[in-house]
Amino acid sequence: MTAQRRAIVEVIQEAKRHLDAEALLKLARQREPNVDRATIYRTIELLKELRLVDELDLMHLEGEKHYYEVKTMQDHLHLACFRCGRIEEFSSALFEQLKAEISKETAFRIRVTRLEVGGICRACAADDVAAEHEDKHVKAAAATSR
Ligand SMILES: [Zn+2]
Ligand SMILES: [Zn+2]
Repeated sequence: MTAQRRAIVEVIQEAKRHLDAEALLKLARQREPNVDRATIYRTIELLKELRLVDELDLMHLEGEKHYYEVKTMQDHLHLACFRCGRIEEFSSALFEQLKAEISKETAFRIRVTRLEVGGICRACAADDVAAEHEDKHVKAAAATSR
């Protein structure tokens, strides 16, 4: 493995969030200044083939961008907030059971399973409630001052 490739793998492994190719390039360059875009894409393709990395589109919150993460032993779901763009991860034994059931009933050899949930996250939902509350108070105040 070349130093460039190693830098890219390290960046993906150490990432605290889901990185797209652009973010990956920026971080990899901090370790290995001569990493270029072509190397990023080639390395991603290779890692995908080796099934070391998963490619995600995360509900296309930001257009056609793709994100990359290291494949973990247990698959997780991604919850994407349409409002703030936050991505939460969720794992469940039920998800594992579902995969087992699919394999059993269809004899399909699963290589990738991806489940994405889009909606409004807890923080944004709380903001909504607060805004509604505020709105009621304003209306109530307007009504009593009439
Ligand atoms: Zn949110
Ligand atoms: Zn993830």
